[in-house]
Amino acid sequence: TSWFDRATFYPPDPIFALTAGFIADPDPNKVNLGQGTYRDDEGKPWILSSVHQAREKLISQKLYHEYLPILGLAEFRSRAAEVALGTRIYREHKETLATCQSLSGTGSLHLTGLLLRAVLNPLPKVFIPEPTWSNHHQIFRALGFECQSFPYYDYANKTLDFDSYISTLESAEPHSIFILHACAHNPTGCDPSKSQWEQIGQIFKDRQLFPLFDAAYLGFNSGDVDEDAFAIRYFVDDLELETAVCMSFAKNMGLYGERVGCTVLVAKNSLTARNTESMLEMLQRSEVSNPPGFGAKIASTVLGDEQLKGAWYEDMVTMSGRIRSMRTQLHDLLVSQATPGSWNHLVNQTGMFGFLGLSPKVVEQLRDQYYIYMSANSRISLAGLNSHNVEYVARSIKTCLE
Ligand code: PLP
Repeated sequence: TSWFDRATFYPPDPIFALTAGFIADPDPNKVNLGQGTYRDDEGKPWILSSVHQAREKLISQKLYHEYLPILGLAEFRSRAAEVALGTRIYREHKETLATCQSLSGTGSLHLTGLLLRAVLNPLPKVFIPEPTWSNHHQIFRALGFECQSFPYYDYANKTLDFDSYISTLESAEPHSIFILHACAHNPTGCDPSKSQWEQIGQIFKDRQLFPLFDAAYLGFNSGDVDEDAFAIRYFVDDLELETAVCMSFAKNMGLYGERVGCTVLVAKNSLTARNTESMLEMLQRSEVSNPPGFGAKIASTVLGDEQLKGAWYEDMVTMSGRIRSMRTQLHDLLVSQATPGSWNHLVNQTGMFGFLGLSPKVVEQLRDQYYIYMSANSRISLAGLNSHNVEYVARSIKTCLE
């Protein structure tokens, strides 16, 4: 017998498995629309100009590899919180924040879950939109929370299912936790409008629900951080709600593998914030001891230097602009070649992902006959498209649908 006899087999994560299949595929026309990582028009990973400059600066200043404090790099934590909240709100709430550097967005969600589990008794339910990023359920279920999906997307009309959203909020037990995609909802690309966010927020306030923002795409979505952080700031500033913001710098700084994230908790008063931060420190100690340094130093250097910060804003416009242009080009090609079906939803969606609305059979056909890889639910990462392959992809979709 083995100590590990009770281990059961879990299939590999579908997105990472898809990428492995793509890498192994010898076809020269292959296209990877699965993984949500930015690619330039040549299909290559892109180092942001701001990040490149920050890296050079760090190396020229002599980079030591000492441990960071348990809570992470102090200036990174405050600069990250300022990104999420904007300068004015950050300054006004500085004393009531508990912040902790985290292992990118995933680590931040996990740390926030750990904290909530430690301070809430009985454990509330965690409401998660359906569909959502596949890891939400895993993270919160593994922590022992009961997770409940709620309808978010109207599959027939390919829009946000706002009525179902509101009725879920209105019927959830007070003190329930809701995972909210701050912007660029993954996978549907459908976000509430500003006035819909205001209605949603009001219900949070009236019904004492807890908003946990997953903020993985601030600035990457529209090219403008302030625009993308609207909901977070509305909840904190206008509604004065206690809030959790789980930030990732994977996408908006292209620091995917460096695991740069920040947990920002907005508390009622400074005493609660101080106690909460001390708990984050205690929890982080037993999880990772000290968060990784290099990526946080890069992000902090970008955010702490006006010139580099300006370059970062431009980089986000470059990335979001290229993605938007691919969205329009794919839409226009599908429409101009009279591909069966309607394609308006493609241009109404936002962010890196598009939900094509193809059947699993067509998704399979695209992969097996045309070497075009995408999730089984036909979510595509628009960053995988470029001027060299967009026509091929549009033509292949058309052929499969005829
Ligand atoms: N949340 C959402 C909605 C995402 O799409 C992702 C990444 O794809 C993440 C969080 C976290 O990513 P990371 O842990 O790489 O920052």
